Amino acid sequence: MSGQTTGRGCASRSIQRGRRAISQSTNRRMYLTSLAVILGLSGLQQAVAADKDAPKKILFFTKSSGFEHSVIHRKGGELSHAEKILTEIGKTHGYEVVCSKDGGMFESDKIGQFDAFVFETTGDLTTTGTDKQPAMTADGEKNLYAAVKAGKGFVGFHCATDTFGHHRGKGADDPYIQMIGGEFAGHGSQQAAKIGVSDASFPGAKVFGTDEFKLQDEWYAQKNMGDDLHVIYYYKTASMHDRDYQRPNYPQTRARMHGKGRVFYNSMGHREDVWANPKFQELAIAGLDWATGRVDAEVAANITKVTPEYGVMPGVEKKK
Ligand SMILES: [Zn+2]
Repeated sequence: MSGQTTGRGCASRSIQRGRRAISQSTNRRMYLTSLAVILGLSGLQQAVAADKDAPKKILFFTKSSGFEHSVIHRKGGELSHAEKILTEIGKTHGYEVVCSKDGGMFESDKIGQFDAFVFETTGDLTTTGTDKQPAMTADGEKNLYAAVKAGKGFVGFHCATDTFGHHRGKGADDPYIQMIGGEFAGHGSQQAAKIGVSDASFPGAKVFGTDEFKLQDEWYAQKNMGDDLHVIYYYKTASMHDRDYQRPNYPQTRARMHGKGRVFYNSMGHREDVWANPKFQELAIAGLDWATGRVDAEVAANITKVTPEYGVMPGVEKKK
């Protein structure tokens, strides 16, 4: 009973926040338009200023050509747990979230409608694979990289790094792995890992604190990480057990530029309670805000400073 009351309270607060945000955004647009008229700014500059607050359309793509996670598994024609959550929180933050497992969404006549792509996927998406959903075509895959390079956003959660790469024998040479900035290299048992905060100034990053925090999830070992990553959080591996984590600290949440496109990856998101965690949700929206250009952040490479031995793994040669 008390849980339900709390639930209503949260919903009502978030509606108020949404209304406040819309009103602030309208005021800001009016102010910018007046300012532009006074200063004689070009139509293009006005459009750019207004575009930051405009509603954005997101494709949440959850095709599983490899292992299918419970958080994105649909039952009885309903959206999955993660799809419901991203759709709901998206609504209150000005995002129209289209949930799909259809690889055809990347074809030339469809891909252009989206401002950003959110992936919680596995395997070689150009094969129908485990979930038997339509595969991406080779052209569709190329369209994705071209769209991001030209300025669309890309956000990956958890198994987004267990996608393409070794599933088709390419690893570090895979254009998808190069875009997302690293690749799945196995995982141990679920555990409460200690995560260090290396950039609390990144949008949303403070939600888990400014120093370190602990969280229970299934954590991915990573390989083939780009040397241009901006590390936001990193694994404090001394706090972890199982062979996959017997290595120096390495990145957990990170950002990078891919041409003009902004790429954000957070390895959290295996467990249903992680998707339901308001802190995870706040960071997810902030990552989307950054990826879609609503907010800016400094994302210069810091991986060699924060996690200098990120490429050192048992049984795997140092990358550099
Ligand atoms: Zn998982």
